[in-house]
Amino acid sequence: KLQKTGIESLKQVTKRYARKQNRWVKNRFLNRPGPSVPPVYGLEVSDVSKWEESVLEPALEIVQSFIQGHKPLAAPVKMPCNEMENKRSYHMCDLCDRIIIGDREWAAHIKSKSHLHQLKKRRRLDSDAVTAIENQSISPDCDKELKEKGSPEQNEKELKSSV
Ligand SMILES: [Zn+2]
Repeated sequence: KLQKTGIESLKQVTKRYARKQNRWVKNRFLNRPGPSVPPVYGLEVSDVSKWEESVLEPALEIVQSFIQGHKPLAAPVKMPCNEMENKRSYHMCDLCDRIIIGDREWAAHIKSKSHLHQLKKRRRLDSDAVTAIENQSISPDCDKELKEKGSPEQNEKELKSSV
């Protein structure tokens, strides 16, 4: 019984891992092709009885061509691309202090772990600064400075409340 459940859970995690890998390849290589991205080839794997002819042989052919430095028979997989997007657009990320070229790369950047990390860091710093200012506002001089720096809306509210 233990062996049976072991095999089942192994199959389950392998499937999950394969799905995750597919998603990663799709997001990283197919959605954002570029000079540093290798070509990706699709193989028909659904019929296991045709494994040799539809998976093994084409895969070997692709690898062989790569080693010998010529184009394989199969064409690489391409994602349908949006004509509207600008591949050379210039984006400056002030948070990360980085320049990102291309709309798609930019969209990927603002969702990336490193960018979100910077965003979190910035927010934490901002909230610390707010707390520091709030603590300072006990002194009347700082209060005056705050009013001057605040948005017009805030100033209005503060004026009303002081009247
Ligand atoms: Zn960023």
